[in-house]
Amino acid sequence: MLQPVSVGRWSLDSYEGIVPAPILEGLRKQAKALSGARILHVNATPYGGGVSELLRSSVPLLRDLGLAVDWQVLGGSPEFFRATKALHNALQGAPHSLSQAEQKAYLDCTRENAPRLDDGYDFIVVHDPQPAALLSVHGRGQARTVWRCHIDTSEPNPEAWRFLRPFIADFDAAVFTMSEFVPPDLPVARVRTIAPAIDPLSPKNIDLSDRTASQILDWIGVDLPGRLVTQVSRFDPWKDPFGVIAAYRLVREEVPGLQLALVGSMALDDPEGWDIYRQLTERAERDPLIHIYTNLTGASNVEVNAFQRLSDVIVQKSIREGFGLVVSESLWKGTPVVAGRAGGIPMQMPEGVGGLLVESVEECAAAMLKLLNDSALAEQLGESGREHVREHFLLPRLLMEELQLLRSLGS
Ligand code: UDP
Repeated sequence: MLQPVSVGRWSLDSYEGIVPAPILEGLRKQAKALSGARILHVNATPYGGGVSELLRSSVPLLRDLGLAVDWQVLGGSPEFFRATKALHNALQGAPHSLSQAEQKAYLDCTRENAPRLDDGYDFIVVHDPQPAALLSVHGRGQARTVWRCHIDTSEPNPEAWRFLRPFIADFDAAVFTMSEFVPPDLPVARVRTIAPAIDPLSPKNIDLSDRTASQILDWIGVDLPGRLVTQVSRFDPWKDPFGVIAAYRLVREEVPGLQLALVGSMALDDPEGWDIYRQLTERAERDPLIHIYTNLTGASNVEVNAFQRLSDVIVQKSIREGFGLVVSESLWKGTPVVAGRAGGIPMQMPEGVGGLLVESVEECAAAMLKLLNDSALAEQLGESGREHVREHFLLPRLLMEELQLLRSLGS
């Protein structure tokens, strides 16, 4: 059932000198105006995937700024998470819609969670489709409510959208990563676009010396100083891990000895991950240069940090993508990225900044090869990417915009 998630303590002062000063000032101003407000964030998993990543860093910072913020995750049965993954896929345009049994699992689980929802909040922010019906079932009390959608819902499967849409109609506002993601006939008057962001001081992004990073990769089994390309992603068809292997095999014909790491986290709300993991390990079984890791086999935040720091190229070959935090995470470490031209990725990598955008296996292979062969270009793209992330995609900017929205809703 709905469970609180505990997080650490953190101070905005630590971001001085890292985040542009006007953003820190702007955030403090917004927080002051909301001082003491009670805010609840609800999502479906405390680990694995972008939303938990964002909340783990956001909640302590907002508390430091004088807001009473809680984070709770929905409890659910395996049937529920299978249904929500089907809903997630359908909302991103997959042909499959929700069966009657899946709709029932979704609503049953929402009903089981709803009694645990506390009535005392001023604001409730519900993330993604999994908990989206919670407020319709429970009633929202006095709270102002926001649906924060992190996925690409520009062309949802019509039946899946018909199922979800009435629940969304109960929110005061909806937030999307890009205006292109707003679904047709969204039944919410107040719509904002706010891009996600990374926390430069989390264990995943904090500065690590090359020596420490290479000790970490040695420990996990990567052969350094050999050359390395890596994709860090949930094992999900939209992230196209099989396409990454295909592109890598083309590049390896030109760069013998090149290693590939696929680092994937198993999120609580993503049952598809295990199937894909099994298929990937089968494909990589007889190839000692392909490494497959998960958060359950030792690749956690600091290891991801080391991969993103020391890989020659980071790949993110997404076909559909909400934002793709992994792109900003890698660019923040000055590592160039080859990424699918999908969803929020191009805004992190405008023309000539951060890396190269691709639309096929062949383009992906050509782009990897180009960066592996031209270290000056790779360095220049990585550096420009880091500055772009500093200006646009660090956490205090995101919090400032979110608080602006809450203020505009009144209390
Ligand atoms: N991630 C991780 N370990 C992994 C794979 C992913 O910690 O093995 C993290 C990754 O660093 C990023 C988040 O999960 O912070 C994924 O967010 P993104 O927006 O890229 O994709 P999502 O999973 O939300 O679709």
